[in-house]
Amino acid sequence: MKVEKIIGEWYDVNCYCLSNDSNECLIIDAGAKVEKMKDLVGNKKVVGILLTHGHFDHTLYLQDYIKTFSNNVYGNENIILSLKDTTLNQGDGWYIEHELALQTLKGDGKLDIGNFEVEYFSCPGHAPCCECYKICEFLFGGDVLFNSGIGRIDLKGSDKQEMKNSLKKLSDIEFNILYSGHGEESTYERQRRNIAVFSRFLNR
Ligand SMILES: [Zn+2]
Repeated sequence: MKVEKIIGEWYDVNCYCLSNDSNECLIIDAGAKVEKMKDLVGNKKVVGILLTHGHFDHTLYLQDYIKTFSNNVYGNENIILSLKDTTLNQGDGWYIEHELALQTLKGDGKLDIGNFEVEYFSCPGHAPCCECYKICEFLFGGDVLFNSGIGRIDLKGSDKQEMKNSLKKLSDIEFNILYSGHGEESTYERQRRNIAVFSRFLNR
């Protein structure tokens, strides 16, 4: 498995291309221009697009990605609401007008996409539609967990108690490397400490 990253123009959002030995890849988030993502995808077959949440910086080019790469798109059950409401997606007027045929995820579970085994975890708090994905030893944490912090909980749709519950859930998941929606990757050990510190902070 190989993880490659490109950075989109809004808030330095990270978008990832995860590839396997079968020449397949999964795209995680759609906030960087198609041309940039095409460079990472190369001749690999895109078997799906995973969305970590509906904020505009992560989904701005979703419709282009669907046209170019794959219409097999996964996101939390609450994500469509966010994509269609600019106050929820923070897009300052941006929203998706067209109907979207997304595969919506409820609760936690597992699914096979191509030869990828994907574990998904509903992790609201930063936004109601936050979803974290564990694939192999990697955790794609979106805006829930960062290298040195957690996602904002002062936005429309944010919820402090839900963030606390989501951090607790993530503290039980073992992984090797965290790939976040912004900033550098991080380790399991660092995140163990991070989650403990920020859970205490949220309890104040
Ligand atoms: Zn966000």
